Amino acid sequence: MARWARGDERVVARGLYVHVPFCAAICNYCNFNRGLLDDELKRRYVDALVEEIRRCPEAGAAIDTVFFGGGTPSLLAPGEVSRVLGACREAFSLAVDAEVTLEANPETVSDRSLSGYRVGGVNRLSYGVQSFRDAELRRLGRLHSADTARRAVRLARAAGFDNISLDLMLWLPGQRLSEWLESVDALAELAPEHASIYLLEIYPHAPLRDEMVRGGWSVAPDEVAAEMYLQGLSRLDAAGYEQYEISNVARPGRRARHNLLYWESGHWLGFGGGAHSTWNGVRWRNLSSTAEYVDRVAAGRPVRMDARTLSAEERLEEALFMGLRLTEGIDLQALAARHGLDVVGRYGAELSRFVDLGVLVLDPGRRLALTREGMLVANEIMMVFIGGPVR
Ligand code: SF4
Repeated sequence: MARWARGDERVVARGLYVHVPFCAAICNYCNFNRGLLDDELKRRYVDALVEEIRRCPEAGAAIDTVFFGGGTPSLLAPGEVSRVLGACREAFSLAVDAEVTLEANPETVSDRSLSGYRVGGVNRLSYGVQSFRDAELRRLGRLHSADTARRAVRLARAAGFDNISLDLMLWLPGQRLSEWLESVDALAELAPEHASIYLLEIYPHAPLRDEMVRGGWSVAPDEVAAEMYLQGLSRLDAAGYEQYEISNVARPGRRARHNLLYWESGHWLGFGGGAHSTWNGVRWRNLSSTAEYVDRVAAGRPVRMDARTLSAEERLEEALFMGLRLTEGIDLQALAARHGLDVVGRYGAELSRFVDLGVLVLDPGRRLALTREGMLVANEIMMVFIGGPVR
């Protein structure tokens, strides 16, 4: 999370992302960098992760967050997670209160594995629940049921986790507004500290497309999807959550610190196949093939590619796009100080029609933020910042 040190010098948070590209089955809508679990490859992959972290040129940096994402990181045994975390601790200066998140699929966890993760230093779990309706979960090719998800939360509480996030997806094939709200209510009943709600995006070659044709399922019209989003968030408001980003809500003090890195122009190092990094104004990615990643690390060869320094214009565009995702919006004075842009002077005329429509709040000299309705048309509003030379 961005902080302000004495003299207003911005202290930007820094994090580590560890990619775990293994899944027990491939969901029919998934477009992530992942493959089916292969125990031998997983063993070599963990070795490679440890090695990549050990020889990282940025070693020694102070780190505030670690995030195990996937894929299905909960397919790693607690001992494997501990080894990787141990390598992070040896190579970097991890904050005493570092947020350490592990993404988990509900069907993969047990009381033993969760206790092991907790003892090993994981202090936040993010469960990919997606729906509390079994028919919807089957339609998505998920391996868990609603009861399995409930059990996973109970087990996590018993293992001592006091920071749990649950993901839900809306606009699922065949999903009605009332069915979506059932899932939201079921989530609220479990009282996680954090929740993410995402619109399902069905990419062009997703197997789900064919299954939708075979099953005769369609997605609800746009205006129903908008109602799903707005009514879902209203229920989460009523349950005591605070929306802080387009897709994220949290109890007070429980915002996802790692994800805030991405939205607040922080710095992060990605480890593992296909992981992306942005560090001190330079961006790169690791090669994405898991087998090739393992082989190259084992051979002592580099895995980073496409490194480039972000231009001043790119940094500014990202600050605008990412800043607008946050409910607090963009601090216009800070933006002017960092990027030399007078947003009102440059874009005021184009932005005013969105203000008139009630989808944008512009407090000149102070803040620019989307309203909740504006979050539904965020892409359209952000187009204002594209095309013209940003100054
Ligand atoms: S569990 Fe997640 S990463 Fe794995 S296939 Fe399903 S959606 Fe993709």
